[in-house]
Amino acid sequence: MPQRDASVLITGGAGFIGGTLVRQWLAEEAAQVVNLDKLTYAGLRISLEELAEDPRHLLVEGDICDAALVRELLAEHRPRAVLHLAAETHVDRSIDEPPKFAETNVIGTCTLLDQATRHWMGLSGDEREQFRFLFMSTDEVFGSAAPGEHFTDRSPLAANSPYAASKAAGEHLVHAFAHTYGLPTVAINPTNNYGPRQMPEKFIPRMILAAISNQPLPLYGDGLQERDWLHVDDCCRAIRTVLRRGSPGRRYLAGSGREHSNRAVAEMICDMASRYIGDGVDRRALIAHVADRPGHDRRYAVDAGPLAALGWSPQTSLADGLAKTVAWYVDNSAWTATAVDSLRRRDLARSPT
Ligand code: NAD
Repeated sequence: MPQRDASVLITGGAGFIGGTLVRQWLAEEAAQVVNLDKLTYAGLRISLEELAEDPRHLLVEGDICDAALVRELLAEHRPRAVLHLAAETHVDRSIDEPPKFAETNVIGTCTLLDQATRHWMGLSGDEREQFRFLFMSTDEVFGSAAPGEHFTDRSPLAANSPYAASKAAGEHLVHAFAHTYGLPTVAINPTNNYGPRQMPEKFIPRMILAAISNQPLPLYGDGLQERDWLHVDDCCRAIRTVLRRGSPGRRYLAGSGREHSNRAVAEMICDMASRYIGDGVDRRALIAHVADRPGHDRRYAVDAGPLAALGWSPQTSLADGLAKTVAWYVDNSAWTATAVDSLRRRDLARSPT
């Protein structure tokens, strides 16, 4: 059992990546976790139920835009780091409701940075020296990669969707707080993640749920958009590596180094679902092309060299990670039902009638 240590404040820890990070952190690190999450439609208590009895995990239901709450949490728990993952994350929703994304991803990030800076300025000695603010960005801030191009930590921000623009704004704020006040920040820009407990509005779980229930798999456009898929466990290890060894003021890109078209991934999912269920159905026939997302980026690819130099490398191949993810969704219908219900309630709340 790891020894008790100072705490860390993780935002968005009831979400897909945040929840995986909280579980991985508590299994492998000593520090306690204060988990600040608004429990939006994407933040599910069921994702954290195995931690309900863990005294090292404190879930605080609250908003990152609430400056007084953030101030109170920093003063009470004196975390040695803030790991900021909370965000509105679904690109399609950002096209429907851009202001919501600006509110959480820009104002929320600015509020956290402001409170973290005030807190950090009041620290002294080792506590001040070792404090870090880690910002979870995305490779989508760089826009669409040209054929053969790999984004690097020097690539210009060129966001194309309202979601990506709100994350790029967050990165600008992080840079500004580091430059203006000297706040020790690090940022990480991972590629698309996949794995257990991802909301089924996102590409991979959406395809999996369609495949296992023999429904059409809706594939945007020609399906030849290329993505570098990173298993969420590898992403969380990358976050911890950047926190521990990253140089303040820098950003680190994380990816598996391998790209696949959306169509190829959908076909892998169909074959894996048929193999796991064992019913011999040809699910590839269920793939159905639908109208493309407006402004859809064609390709994402990153150079994760600087992160590799810190000792990180991805451990999970897509073939292995995807097969396990398909199996997880088949075997965890209670989680899936909760997530689908949460999405349904979110969409009803949005509907004018
Ligand atoms: P998610 O949508 O699954 O979870 C987001 C979490 O943030 C939810 O638990 C939600 O309740 C919480 N949240 C939203 N607004 C909040 C607010 N105002 N105050 C407090 N909590 C709030 O997202 P995810 O896929 O786990 O992504 C986590 C982070 O990683 C995000 O910052 C995202 O931009 C980034 N990212 C995601 C991917 C990916 O492929 N999923 C890739 C690169 C970067």
